[in-house]
Amino acid sequence: TQKFKDGLSKTSSSLVGAMDSVFSRNRIDEELFEELEDVLIGADVGVQTTMEIVDRLRSEVKQRKVKDPADLQPLLSEILVEMLQGDDRDTAMNLKADGLSIILFVGVNGVGKTTTIGKLAHQYRQEGKRVILAAGDTFRAGAIEQLEVWGERVGVDVIRHQAGSDPAAVIYDGIQAAKARGADILLCDTAGRLHSKVNLMEELKKVYRVIQREVPEAPHETLLVLDSTTGQNALQQAKWFNEATRLSGIVLTKMDGTAKGGIAVAIRRELSIPVKWIGLGEKLDDLQPFDAEQFVHALFV
Ligand code: GDP
Repeated sequence: TQKFKDGLSKTSSSLVGAMDSVFSRNRIDEELFEELEDVLIGADVGVQTTMEIVDRLRSEVKQRKVKDPADLQPLLSEILVEMLQGDDRDTAMNLKADGLSIILFVGVNGVGKTTTIGKLAHQYRQEGKRVILAAGDTFRAGAIEQLEVWGERVGVDVIRHQAGSDPAAVIYDGIQAAKARGADILLCDTAGRLHSKVNLMEELKKVYRVIQREVPEAPHETLLVLDSTTGQNALQQAKWFNEATRLSGIVLTKMDGTAKGGIAVAIRRELSIPVKWIGLGEKLDDLQPFDAEQFVHALFV
């Protein structure tokens, strides 16, 4: 929880000040709701999601006959937690207790995919799991070497081909190596060049097919990595990737670097895909499992 608080301090310090001004108004009226809307939109919660939040707050106020603006804060927290938890889809990772689990990472260049793979490899290693990385980003210059650096740092093997080779072939080899070495977890990197979106999506579909052919119930997770500092752009990226692959979860990186952490709420709400991890820094242990209550708590306290 302390990590959450520290990592989200930029968002919380800008939010707390703005919220204080809303909640210290004299009475609950339309002006107050409008000011709240501005604050939420300013925190990148998104127009649609903001309207939904404020509508729900309005009806709760009516129903519970709330009169004092100071009583709005716990109500708002409740609504945000509920929205972030969403429906029954779990934020936990869907890993096999026994046998190989395959996690596919997708996302555009620079969002923090490689870093996240390194951090997650580190966590699973610490839990005593056998981990292998597959260097499926054969396109971006230096991506393979960067993954190898993470592999060395964390102490796990990296399966790689030459730059420019077929990513599906790398992933195929990764699966064979993982099976042969009795690995528990295979983390697969992929390319994220966006200037040829159609090709990228075709490539991802091929990688997905190869994984499914080799291990029918896999990938056990397909995680889209999004940079929270890109705000509403992240939503657009999520829509593209959601069309190409069946996403099971979101990793929101660089939450430490933004004052607009409200993007998490927009993403959860507008995409109906659970946020499973958040990145709160560049170090190995700066990746936290997402927890709606801790998140909202960190924003307001
Ligand atoms: P990729 O192109 O998607 O593989 O992105 P990288 O993993 O290379 O990350 C791009 C940059 O973002 C690097 O400088 C990382 O150190 C940085 N980065 C990744 N995750 C985080 C995070 O959670 N917080 C911060 N502050 N920086 C991050």
